[in-house]
Amino acid sequence: MDIYNTLTKKVETIVPNEEGKIAMYTCGPTVYHYAHIGNLRSYICEDVLEKALRYVGYDVKRVMNITDVGHLSSDADEGEDKMLKGAKREHKTVMEIAKFYTDAFFEDCKKLNIKTPDVVEPATNCIDEFIHMIEVLIEKGYAYVAGGNVYFDTSKLDNYHVFSDHSQDELLVGVRDDVTEDENKKNKNDFVLWFTKSKFEDQALKWDSPWGVGYPGWHIECSCISMKHLGEYMDIHCGGVDNIFPHHTNEIAQSEAYLGHKWCNYWFHVQHLNDRSGKMSKSKGDFLTVSLLESKGYNPLVYRMFCLQSHYRKPLEFSYEIMDNTKTAYNKLINKIASLKDDGNVDNNAFDEYRKKFSDALENDVNTSMAITVLYDMLKADISDATKLALVKSYDEVLSLGLLDAGESNNEVDEELEKYVLEKIEQRAAAKKEKDFATADAIRNELLERGIELKDTREGTVWKKID
Ligand code: AMP
Ligand code: ZN
Repeated sequence: MDIYNTLTKKVETIVPNEEGKIAMYTCGPTVYHYAHIGNLRSYICEDVLEKALRYVGYDVKRVMNITDVGHLSSDADEGEDKMLKGAKREHKTVMEIAKFYTDAFFEDCKKLNIKTPDVVEPATNCIDEFIHMIEVLIEKGYAYVAGGNVYFDTSKLDNYHVFSDHSQDELLVGVRDDVTEDENKKNKNDFVLWFTKSKFEDQALKWDSPWGVGYPGWHIECSCISMKHLGEYMDIHCGGVDNIFPHHTNEIAQSEAYLGHKWCNYWFHVQHLNDRSGKMSKSKGDFLTVSLLESKGYNPLVYRMFCLQSHYRKPLEFSYEIMDNTKTAYNKLINKIASLKDDGNVDNNAFDEYRKKFSDALENDVNTSMAITVLYDMLKADISDATKLALVKSYDEVLSLGLLDAGESNNEVDEELEKYVLEKIEQRAAAKKEKDFATADAIRNELLERGIELKDTREGTVWKKID
């Protein structure tokens, strides 16, 4: 299988460290808010990569962290801990926030048919491992204590900027004008491994360490958690493109300094989903979530298809027009598949031929739009319905679009019901605006009687069918 490797800037054939086995790591979410659909684009593409690897015959072990401490509001070591920001916003404890948004993240993943990685590890579970790695880095002369914090010394490396040949100044992303530069750093790009003294005395989670009570930096968690579960050699490390610098650059710096050898061979980065105003961001407050799409009548799998129709290395602009077109295409596709009759007659040669076309598309740098074209071509081909159904089942191991889950009748009814419910939700919102709560309640009750439950969320009113 070929993928584009950010490290070498080339499309390369994957040669795993251990034959047939892929050690894969994914940077997990920072759980201080809902994931936006941009974050989820990255997780959808990484899910497809994992499933494509399995489809073409690799054994994959995939690990993901949950960032529940240490990610500050700029990706450099400045600003407030994002978790603390979430806790303050909602008047809850940091751990309550972490639990709530971790659960919400996996709920969204479930709706998008994103498989849970084999190992999921919250950063707060691994404090001892972080401390051990930092101790070794100090012993080896790669880290220093200054002003109470522990820093990684980037000047000790021959090549810190592994992903690019930009100058240090150009790479100072995420450092905003309103944050003062940390004067303890010996070099501009040095980064914090452990905070004890920082401007944020109210940091909620703190642990004892050889350098005083404090908390870990964000980058150290991914190095430690991946090594804890995957060992000293990793095959593929994934994340969105914003993670390239400083996060992944710093992960490589500290991991290779600690290990004394090369750590990860392939770096897979997903380009951003943007809205018309630019990059989507959780800190902007008002952002697109899966529940918001649902409340507007979109099946989350329509969003998955929206993502798979474009290549993971191209920026993607979100628009409701394209979502509407995708929804129509998705429903047609589901109906077409539902109309196939299982006549029990699978043609093995045709099956192999079309399975190969599909895996060729995936092996070509995870070309999902080509894989979907193969699906359409196959459905039009002159082969038996049973062969088509067997191929749809096989393709859906990777596409995970629920292609066999919905039947024609189901879909038609849903569309009508959906239209009706959305109209009622609008009428209720209008009544509430006019402070006509009696009408609003009457609409809610009318829907309840028809087995529809409404829930008011931060992103608007969502609905679900109840039994
Ligand atoms: P975070 O929860 O901020 O740690 O981000 C989770 C994942 O989403 C990381 O892999 C990010 O690189 C990725 N990400 C952040 N913003 C976007 C976006 N607009 N489009 C695609 N991926 C994103
Ligand atoms: Zn990470």
